[in-house]
Amino acid sequence: MKFYIATDIEGVATVTGVAGQGMNKDCKQYEFARRMLTCEVNAAIDGLLSAGQAEIIVSDGHSDGTSNIIYEELRRGVKILAGSPRPRQLEVVDESFTGIILIGYHPMAGVENGVLSHTFSSVAIQNMWLNGRLVGEIGLTAVQAGALGVPVIFVSSCKAGTDEAKDWIPGVTTVAVKEGLGRNCAISLHPEDAQEKIRDGVGRAVAKLAQIQPLRIEPPYELRIEYKLESTAEAMVRATGCERIDSRTIVRRSDDIFKVY
Ligand SMILES: [Zn+2]
Repeated sequence: MKFYIATDIEGVATVTGVAGQGMNKDCKQYEFARRMLTCEVNAAIDGLLSAGQAEIIVSDGHSDGTSNIIYEELRRGVKILAGSPRPRQLEVVDESFTGIILIGYHPMAGVENGVLSHTFSSVAIQNMWLNGRLVGEIGLTAVQAGALGVPVIFVSSCKAGTDEAKDWIPGVTTVAVKEGLGRNCAISLHPEDAQEKIRDGVGRAVAKLAQIQPLRIEPPYELRIEYKLESTAEAMVRATGCERIDSRTIVRRSDDIFKVY
């Protein structure tokens, strides 16, 4: 078996961030968030290994993809994908992979009580639609994985994020490590309780692998992106030649899901 653990950082237990600040080196909670992410990734690795031998790749996916996880504290034996820019989303995944695990993910922009909710950029993007349906990073990742023939089998996030995952991915196993009381406020599980639930949840997801299929959405794909600023839409049109459908909104079309984002 071969698994890919894709990580973000906003969706780990007890992390709420600070309004107006990204979850980056300047944020008071960033160092803590890195430690929690590392523990949650280890919990997912333990859950995968509880089902038997597995080849595991851990992708450091937040921001520039470097040192958001404390690599030297990860369980031995995994391989770690770090750095940017990368060739595409889900970099090395192909049909030889058994499943994808999402750890520390967050809900799409604009979701009520979505902890640290955003879609790729909290400062630039207002909304994104895939083939007419509002989509965030969880949904888009599941569709991209599906196009590669691999199912997303487990997602951990806040409650709004796990609701979004269940909405997009039939049969996915989820663990909500916290529940938003606002965008930057949550009631969270204790970190160790969250880690235990992730370990058990990933183990359950692997046990019912036969019941989950890759999320196949047939091409053509149309990704509509509404930016917060007209100037961002203008810059995108100049840089990529994409179509602009109103002052803040552009659209990209392709039969290749990796060419629309
Ligand atoms: Zn992130």
